Parts: sequence; structure tokens; C-alpha cells
Amino acid sequence: MNGPSPARNANITAASAGAAPVAAKASGGVAYSTPVRKARRVPVPRVWPLKDYDVYALLGGNAFIILAMWIRHGNLHELETPAGIVTAIGELAALYGTYLVLIQLVLMSRSPWLDQIFGQDRLVAAHRWVGFSAIWLLFAHFVFTTVGYGMADGSGPISETFNLLTTYPYVMWSGVGLILFVVVGITSMRAARRMASYETWYAIHLYAYLAIALSFMHQLVVGLDFASDPMARFYWIGLYALTIGLLLVFRFGQPMAISWRHRLRVANVVKEGQDVVSIYLTGRELDQLPVRAGQWFRLRFMTSHGWWRGHPFSISAAPNGRYLRFTIKNLGDYTKLLQEVRVGTSVFVEGPYGVFTGANRTKARVLLVAGGIGITPLRALLEELPAARGNLTLVYRASHENEVVFRNELDELASLRGATVHYLVGRRGSREMPSDPLDPRALRRLVPDVFDRDIYVCGPAGMMERVLAGLHWLRIAESQIHYERFNF
Ligand SMILES: Cc1cc2nc3c(=O)[nH]c(=O)nc-3n(C[C@H](O)[C@H](O)[C@H](O)COP(=O)(O)OP(=O)(O)OC[C@H]3O[C@@H](n4cnc5c(N)ncnc54)[C@H](O)[C@@H]3O)c2cc1C
Repeated sequence: MNGPSPARNANITAASAGAAPVAAKASGGVAYSTPVRKARRVPVPRVWPLKDYDVYALLGGNAFIILAMWIRHGNLHELETPAGIVTAIGELAALYGTYLVLIQLVLMSRSPWLDQIFGQDRLVAAHRWVGFSAIWLLFAHFVFTTVGYGMADGSGPISETFNLLTTYPYVMWSGVGLILFVVVGITSMRAARRMASYETWYAIHLYAYLAIALSFMHQLVVGLDFASDPMARFYWIGLYALTIGLLLVFRFGQPMAISWRHRLRVANVVKEGQDVVSIYLTGRELDQLPVRAGQWFRLRFMTSHGWWRGHPFSISAAPNGRYLRFTIKNLGDYTKLLQEVRVGTSVFVEGPYGVFTGANRTKARVLLVAGGIGITPLRALLEELPAARGNLTLVYRASHENEVVFRNELDELASLRGATVHYLVGRRGSREMPSDPLDPRALRRLVPDVFDRDIYVCGPAGMMERVLAGLHWLRIAESQIHYERFNF
């Protein structure tokens, strides 16, 4: 069954919220409704029968196999001499450094089974620390192996380095790979990242793939564990194949399949407020696109300046089978361009991603805490989460009245669903606003039964840290707290 086209959607239009009709005219598109629905009309994403401990067991199991493989090759004998001990440290550092590199790629493969357990923001945080550890281990491999071999040969580290680079096949390549890894690591440090744009940092980051390719052959040809053991070689190549397979399927295959099937394009652009627009996407068979309120997609607008960069945006209305709505604040060069995106532009999508949904809910009552543009997923959750009247509360913090988006929609939703909305608007520390309006005591005053609710938090980094720290201070169970960060 084909989904509605923009033209057909015009027939299902109801009253648009806020400034919608004006902007609809300006963009030449049709006005869209933001109706409140009683039941879902789209399937939910598949739930994989996996838990976090399954992932840890898999990772730990492989780490154990690697150690067993090293022992099976008789390497424990090395521990009998000082030179052997140093060399053994270098060998184990190589094996585990490479293993961590592969884990890093898996973490970034956007596999739905990993996303469902951890969410992309935690996966990105893990990727960061696994990455730094991998680079340290690979560097340790270079140092310890060189020194260990040098001790055995009676040569110094510099002449041994020269000897290794010129004698063994592929070692020179892996040396270049290590330098690339170190460059990627340095440019990923917070201080360096702040100096470059996201795109520049990302482009440098891609050199890690080249580094992995450059070091692969030296492992198989020179690596003592693989050169003469076909079974170990098969296992090692299998790890690489599995990792590359996950990357190909979920970073390329799945986005291409979804984008091809649903053929999304911009149907309308509606100004919501100062520097904020809602972009409505329609396409084919949207009623069969599995997605939940609170999830996000990586969007690539197919324009000359947008096709090469995908940016993450949450859906700002509950899925309804007819369109996906994204509400985007101008926060940089790309989001500035999106304020003017043309109706009809094709959009390549990756996703949906994220665990900021009703799937992980534990309580009947829910508190939503939004800051600034962090309202987008919470607006969708306010619409979608099943709840009895009186069980939904939204606290919406903004520094200025003109930063409040969706006010009409939120009020409409609140009255239809029997929800409570608290707007906390004003500059912190001003006469009308305390210096920390979301501190735990203030939150408890505003929502006295906060302990008995699931709490969903999304907003600017500083606000989120304060709210999350406050919730921990209140000793609210971890399982009740859900959050989405807008910066990876
Ligand atoms: C899960 C998620 C959901 C989001 N939902 C929304 C939303 O509904 N509405 C909204 O207005 N904004 C949302 N954002 C933020 C939005 O993605 C950024 O504001 C946007 O990418 C900034 O791009 P820029 O080029 O305009 O600005 P830049 O100045 O290039 O970037 C500003 C900051 O945005 C982050 N960023 C930039 N590009 C990317 C990228 N490709 N991937 C990850 N982070 C990036 C970086 O932390 C960067 O420092 C979301 C972010 C995430 C991670």
C-alpha cells in the first residue's frame, strides 16, 4: 500500500499549530496538522532478545579465546627471560589493541541490537574510551616489542626499530597505520575537537579505517599467533569479517533499503519560532516504517551542500503513518541551511535510533523534563506515551519566551490528555527565575510524586547534567531515569 503523497496529505490537514499557516504559505507547501491520536498506526521497531550481559559475555568470551590462543602457541615460555617478558607484553598489547579496534567499529556499526540495549550516546561514549585504550595498547605494542626484540638481539631501540621496519614485510605499513591512529586519537581529544568543526574532525576520523587496513596484513604475516596456525588465522579473519559485515549491513545496507523503500522528501517547512523550523517529510508506506516517539534519525538532505553530511534529529511528533516531523533549531552552519530547505528535496535517512522511548518505562506516571530545543522528542512522547489522565507532567525550561516552541500544541495536548505542563521561562538568576530552577528540591516541589515516576530528560548539556545529578541526589532508581543527549 502506498503512503500519502504531499498532495493527498493536504486533504487530511487540520488546524496547524502556532505559526504554521504563515510559514506554510511562505514555503509554498501544504499546512500539516499535528493531531493527537489515540492509537499507534505504525509498527514498533523489532526488539532483539539480547541484554547488556549477553554483550559483555560475548566480549569477555572473545578476550578469553585470544588469551587461550596466545598460550596455545607456547608463549608462556617467553616469561622465563626478561627480554621474553617484555616481548610478551608487546604481543598481548597487539592482540588486545587490535581486538579493541574491532570492538570500536562494532560500537559504531549502528547495529539495532546494540542501539536497543545501550542507545547511541552511550555507544559513542564507549567508542571514545575504547578508542583511546586501543591506541595506547597499539603504541605499547610498538614500544615493548621493539625493546623486547632489541634486548634479545643485544641492539638498542632505535637500531631495532630500523631493523624491524626494513626486515619484516608489512611492518612499515603498520607503522604508518599507528601514526594515523595517533593522529586520530589526538584530534579526538576534547581540546582539539573544540578547535575544529564536526565535519573536519569526522573527515580526519575516517583515516582510522585506512590505519586498520594498513596494519591488517602485518598481523597475519608477521604475527607469531597467526603466521603458522591456520585455525587462529581463520578465527582472526572471522572477527574482521564479522565487524566489516556489521558495518556494511547497518551503515550502508539498512539506510539504503529504508531510504529506497520510503522515498522521503520534504513536504512542508513551517516556522515555529525564532531560528526554529519544523520540516515535514512524507514518502511511501510510512505506515509501515517502524519507529517510536522519542527516537531519532540521521538525515541527509539531498542538496549540493547537504548530501555528504548526515545530522541527527529527533521526531517531534508521534509517528502517524503519514509523515515524519523534525523540528530543527539553527545552531550552526548546517542547521542554518535547513531553515531554508526547499519543499520537494529528497532526504536520505538512517535510523530510527535511540532508547529514549516508552519501551523502557517502569511506572504508570511519567515526568518529562525539557530544556530549549530538547523539547522535540518530549513533545512526541507527550503525544504517544499511554497514560491515564493526570499521570503525565511536562516541565519545560527556556531562557526566554521566544525560545518556547510548540506552546499551542503543548497546551492542546495537555488538555486532550489530561497532562500538566509547567513552563519555567526566564533567565536564571533574574527576578522571576531562581539560579537553578531545576534543582532537586525545586523539582520535588513542582512534582511531589517525582519518586514514583519515570523521568525523561532532554536539553542542553549543562541543564541535563544538573537535572541528572539532582535525580541521583533524590535517589531515584536508575531504571526510572531516561535521557537523550543532543551532542555526541
Ligand atoms: C540524538 C540527537 C537528536 C537530536 N535532535 C535534534 C532535534 O530534534 N532538533 C535540533 O534542532 N537538534 C537536534 N540535535 C542536534 C543537532 O544534531 C545539531 O544541532 C546539529 O547536528 C548541528 O549541526 P550544525 O552543522 O548546524 O552545527 P555545528 O556547529 O557543526 O555543530 C554543533 C554541535 O552539534 C553536534 N553535531 C554536529 N554535527 C553532528 C553530527 N553529524 N552528528 C552528531 N552530532 C553532531 C556537535 O556536538 C557539534 O559540536 C540532535 C542531536 C542528537 C545527537
